[in-house]
Amino acid sequence: MKIIAKEKWPDFVAKLIEDYEVYAPVEAGEAITFQKIREPKEGQWHYANTTTSAKGVFLPQTETLFCYEMNNGHVKLEPIEDVAKDRVLLAVRPCDARAVSILDRVFDTEEKPDVYYVNRRRRTTIVALGCNVPRSTCFCTAVGGDPFGKEGADVLLTDLGDRYLAEPLTPRGEALLSTAHFREATQKERSDAKRIATHARKQMAPLPDTTSLPSALGGMIEAPIWQALQERCLGCAVCAYVCPTCYCFDIVDEVCDATSGKRVRNWDCCQFAVYTLEASGHNPRPTGRERMRQRVMHKFNYMAMGGAPLGCVGCGRCVISCPVNIDIREILGAITAAKAT
Ligand code: SF4
Ligand code: SF4
Repeated sequence: MKIIAKEKWPDFVAKLIEDYEVYAPVEAGEAITFQKIREPKEGQWHYANTTTSAKGVFLPQTETLFCYEMNNGHVKLEPIEDVAKDRVLLAVRPCDARAVSILDRVFDTEEKPDVYYVNRRRRTTIVALGCNVPRSTCFCTAVGGDPFGKEGADVLLTDLGDRYLAEPLTPRGEALLSTAHFREATQKERSDAKRIATHARKQMAPLPDTTSLPSALGGMIEAPIWQALQERCLGCAVCAYVCPTCYCFDIVDEVCDATSGKRVRNWDCCQFAVYTLEASGHNPRPTGRERMRQRVMHKFNYMAMGGAPLGCVGCGRCVISCPVNIDIREILGAITAAKAT
């Protein structure tokens, strides 16, 4: 384990910027989002959690997949190469790093890897920053996570006040910490980091046990609870857009002129009425009841089949951002209660 003094952190980040594309939490109006930084002072290193997740670093909200040009009956495709350099994603919370490993299960499969996602993912080193003080809306421990979890990360940082303890978790992480900005951690510093992590875990609010959710949901397709739950929902999709594990997308062809255009992928959401609308006019999820059910079922039943992780890392963003205060923790509690009756 290594130590870097906080006064040396900007120099380390500046060195990273020379060698990599560096993404970090950045203030954007009232929000904090992950963006590419050009100098260390652009990064926000003291924040509770970002407004949007790091998902966009791997799966941008909108991206051109390729451009096309027609010439005398021939179609020429121009692929887009958007990863010029290896990347480093800095100061991502452990829930978000874990969410990336959940997205890997969708986009980096052996049968059908998504080349756009895989290209970014394989060229990105993830530096996670443990949560000394989890927010009241955080519930990572209820869904298999930990405020100092290591899954998905290459390095885990612990804030020791005037220093960071940096634990390399992969060879890539090891390489990142091999600069002169770091020294070996003392036994006391290691113990301090452990104590901080234990304290953080104890601060997590008690939450409903989610271990039985996948099987409980299995028999609840027609349960009355979906009707009650959807009545407040506006179908605005904020919950999905801020969620680090939601990945619905839509692909459209945009025509530029008579002979050229581009194919674009955009985030989409199963809470939108038109998401499942078929060309015939039939919609298999015609009301909010089916759409609310789909979102919950997907995260807590379909994705968790065969022992896979739930599709929620407990970041609490949907709890904070929903304009009508729909709280996923209450939904999970209501499902558990409905199943018990
Ligand atoms: S943010 Fe709230 S209101 Fe909007 S779609 Fe999600 S649950 Fe419904
Ligand atoms: S469902 Fe809500 S709490 Fe769970 S990962 Fe998505 S945004 Fe975070």
